[in-house]
Amino acid sequence: MVVVRGRGWEIENVDDVREYAREHGYDLTSEDLDGICLDSEALILIDASLTGCHRLEIEIHELLHAYDPDIPERRVRILGRTLARALWRLGYRGQPTKQAPPTI
Ligand SMILES: [Zn+2]
Repeated sequence: MVVVRGRGWEIENVDDVREYAREHGYDLTSEDLDGICLDSEALILIDASLTGCHRLEIEIHELLHAYDPDIPERRVRILGRTLARALWRLGYRGQPTKQAPPTI
């Protein structure tokens, strides 16, 4: 679980984001889905096959949606890509840790 703006969010890696979203009542047909932020359930689904900088980008993207669902999609895309590339350049590789993260 991660905490975003005081709310606990579960992040799950799934084989098919669209199928899992459908099971949660979201019918998304037109987009290529690497991840989704389900605000009503405080749940983020991430395509389990994603790796590297693209995975980091999608994680940031969905966390931005969790932080503020009113941020326009285009801005979330740009922010996610920009932050992921910057963090990747700085050496972040998303290694799991048991250390408790700071609250976002
Ligand atoms: Zn989005």
